[in-house]
Amino acid sequence: MNINVRFAPSPTGYLHVGGLRTALYNYLFAKQHKGNLVLRIEDTDQSRKVDGAIDNLIESLNKCGIIFDKGPTEYSTDNLFIQSNRLSIYHEHVTYLLENNYAYACFDDDFLQYRDKSYNKEQLIDTSYHVRLKIPNNELTVKDEIRGDIKFDLSLIDDPVILKTDQFPTYHLANVIDDHDMDISHVIRGEEWLPSTPIHVVLYDYFQWELPVFIHLPLLLNPDKSKLSKRQGHVSVDEFLNEGYLPEALINFIALLGWNPKNNNEIFSINELIEQFNIKNIQKSGAVFDINKLNWMNGEYLKDIQAESIVSLCKIIFEKHNFTIEDNTDFIKIINFAKQRSHTIADMVEQTTPFFVDPSYNVEYRDLLLDKQSKRLFSLLLEQVAVLNNIEESEIKEIISNLSMEIHVKGKELFFPIRLALWGDVHGPDIGLIIKILGKEKTLARLNKALKYG
Ligand code: GLU
Repeated sequence: MNINVRFAPSPTGYLHVGGLRTALYNYLFAKQHKGNLVLRIEDTDQSRKVDGAIDNLIESLNKCGIIFDKGPTEYSTDNLFIQSNRLSIYHEHVTYLLENNYAYACFDDDFLQYRDKSYNKEQLIDTSYHVRLKIPNNELTVKDEIRGDIKFDLSLIDDPVILKTDQFPTYHLANVIDDHDMDISHVIRGEEWLPSTPIHVVLYDYFQWELPVFIHLPLLLNPDKSKLSKRQGHVSVDEFLNEGYLPEALINFIALLGWNPKNNNEIFSINELIEQFNIKNIQKSGAVFDINKLNWMNGEYLKDIQAESIVSLCKIIFEKHNFTIEDNTDFIKIINFAKQRSHTIADMVEQTTPFFVDPSYNVEYRDLLLDKQSKRLFSLLLEQVAVLNNIEESEIKEIISNLSMEIHVKGKELFFPIRLALWGDVHGPDIGLIIKILGKEKTLARLNKALKYG
């Protein structure tokens, strides 16, 4: 059997993390079965269409490494994987359904009065109408790979509109026709589409098409178990990426929202996910989107990643916070310091702010700034730095160790006051690194300020 799957977003805005999970599971499933992944844009609801949304969706998916085998690579008016370019295909199928009495045209809202009328082609010329699908009254069983057999009482389902007065199909019709036309073997989508599935099965039956395998993914939940919503945090993939979550970490985190690897591992590269992902281990119950876990995971990725490979990403985010990056070598040092202790790149900015702007002192250590011995240290260090031509970390280390011997202080007694003067707090980067990055002028200015404090 050829495996063909699809991700079928509607271009109504940004890529939602739930959409990213659907796209990812489809991608993993396609890759592990050497199948094809199709991107199909479902834009039949023209009123909800947002300009630029298609390009935006594609860009976000690409940034996360989800590459499609078929489908648009950008918005285009003739790409046949965009539903608004396929209207004639849907119209042909509507005609088939009308001719076979599986659907009927309505000329006003009272659809019951049209249900038993026979198809009259002439009536459809120059008049405004919509078309509804006849839903039979029997019970229908939908088979879902994760949930097993689900029974639906079709008598409870109203005849749904399949073609609107604007002659655009609705989701149900276009989705089924395209899944068949694109030879989709497995429909992997969110649980919210489960109630639509009996309607789709009726359509498959009318067209006498073979059903795909249905796999409905569990809902994503807020920590309070309500449906994941914007009100409780970010839901757009772009927002996460813009804040400096690494795509690899986001993908790793998202992969575990509803799929259980059945071992204790939590860190998976994309290739490991392709190898180990198993549809059978997808859970039925909702998956909680735990931002703390994402933060932890992103921090783990940051620790491991080479600073060089995130320089450009960091630059964008630091510059967004109005920090100008002048020297790449220095910036890599800053990144190396910060990535060990941050959850995100936005956190890294926070951790390194005193490199860029004069810090205010941590008030808890006010006394230490006033201390006589501290003042002596500041003035001695100031004298030594003032005569340096070129600042090297090793040289600073030497100066500080000489100072330590000269005035007989070491450890915290030595480092805390100096760091407080230069960094605003007693904890922070290595003093050699601080002075190297600040440069002579700023170092002297901060030492002078500390000297005068009080
Ligand atoms: N267009 C639907 C969406 O926006 C697709 C649902 C499906 O995959 O069938 O999610």
